[in-house]
Amino acid sequence: MTETTTLQARMHDELREQTLFDLAQQDVRAYLQTILERPVFPTAAALSGLTAFAEPLPAHSSTAASVLEQLHQHGSPATVATLGGRYFGFVTGSSLPIGLAAKQLATYWDQNSAMHIMSPITSTLETVVEGWLRELFNLPPDTVASYVSGTSTANLCGLAAARYRLLERQGWDLNVQGVFGAPKLRIVTSRQSHSAVLKAVMMLGFGTGNIEWVDVDSQGRIIPEALPELDDRTIVVLQAGNVNSGSFDPFTEICQRASAVGAWVHIDGAFGLWAGAVGPLQHLTQGMELAHSWAVDGHKTLNTPYDCGILLCADRAALAAAMQVKASYLVMGENRDGMSYTPEMSRRARVVELWAILRYLGREGIAELVYGLHQRATQFAQEIQALPGFTILNDVVFNQVVVCCANDELTDKTLVRMQASGECWAGGSIWRERKVIRVSVCSWATTPADITRSVAAFRQALEEASR
Ligand SMILES: *Cc1c(COP(=O)(O)O)cnc(C)c1O
Repeated sequence: MTETTTLQARMHDELREQTLFDLAQQDVRAYLQTILERPVFPTAAALSGLTAFAEPLPAHSSTAASVLEQLHQHGSPATVATLGGRYFGFVTGSSLPIGLAAKQLATYWDQNSAMHIMSPITSTLETVVEGWLRELFNLPPDTVASYVSGTSTANLCGLAAARYRLLERQGWDLNVQGVFGAPKLRIVTSRQSHSAVLKAVMMLGFGTGNIEWVDVDSQGRIIPEALPELDDRTIVVLQAGNVNSGSFDPFTEICQRASAVGAWVHIDGAFGLWAGAVGPLQHLTQGMELAHSWAVDGHKTLNTPYDCGILLCADRAALAAAMQVKASYLVMGENRDGMSYTPEMSRRARVVELWAILRYLGREGIAELVYGLHQRATQFAQEIQALPGFTILNDVVFNQVVVCCANDELTDKTLVRMQASGECWAGGSIWRERKVIRVSVCSWATTPADITRSVAAFRQALEEASR
């Protein structure tokens, strides 16, 4: 490259010669080679390597190779190994290899998924996957899918659709008349709703102070008898998968009561909705198809790469109205324009990974993946319960195990030591006023041996904490 080479010409060369893509691919290979065995949480040395990024914005351009090298040398070791089989933190999920590979191709496609005219392939896959999800979850025929960043946004969209429809039935056009001065709507939800639901309630202007909270049972399930009287101004938010215990609200009775009076039921099923796709777990989601909207993540239980949430809404028109945009340059066609159903206009083609994984697994594979998580969670519970000093506080109905030690202090100390071991990683939480360790099995990669090894790390951590 001569000194007279312009930046643009250099980048043209990069695209033509593709050497930097080969370099990145080498980094990918090196990264994947150790991912199943390296410390689950980055070591102190790896974390201190992050100071390499504390630099001022460079004045001049660099070579692509130097940028990639910095990223791989200092970034890769400081990642958390959620892709491996021994990360049990939060409820995160891993990524299936086919999802990563398909995402890589889609990255190079660099499609804008706002409209069919901008990306016919994305629009096509979004339509296909919409049909597949409807079928998989046995949802009403006109159910629409909105492909968003995660369940936080999916909840927001579901509640926005509900708000639009219930106000419209009161003779109020939300889009024109706005929220201020509108007929008051009610939000009814359980005391253990996920914080993402509360965030949506806040962002949409309902106010958390107006929530009508409903008591839960010992597993964190909403108690139907404790529900207030419902009416046609009520949005009921239920949960498929309690973020601590993994329990499911009883859907049938509540949905029937809601439908009888014109209330809207939204289900936050970020990780739990997938139980509905597994024969032996379907009792958990029974009746969920009677709701009006459902939020679910691809990136948790299904193990798509991150940035993959889906809102499913039985009332297509309400969702489209809640998300609608009109502009002279936007010519909506007969084909699906994704932006009619999402808060965003420009959007990457996240449906590609979702499609690839559903296509790869098929019905049986999806069931095997999801049921496998349940089996590993059950194994974890059995093995840890056999050890002195640990207690399981929940019924392990799905993929969540709530563990504690003899007292809060010991639980805390054990948690810290287990996290520092690099052997596995689970987070802390509070459950029924006790400090707990929350183990969420949500990686396809977790083997029975990974569970046994992680239980050993818990035992070792408790031993050290007890000294
Ligand atoms: C993770 C989770 C959310 C939030 O989903 P994101 O994809 O992280 O936005 C909401 N509800 C429940 C029950 C969850 O587990």
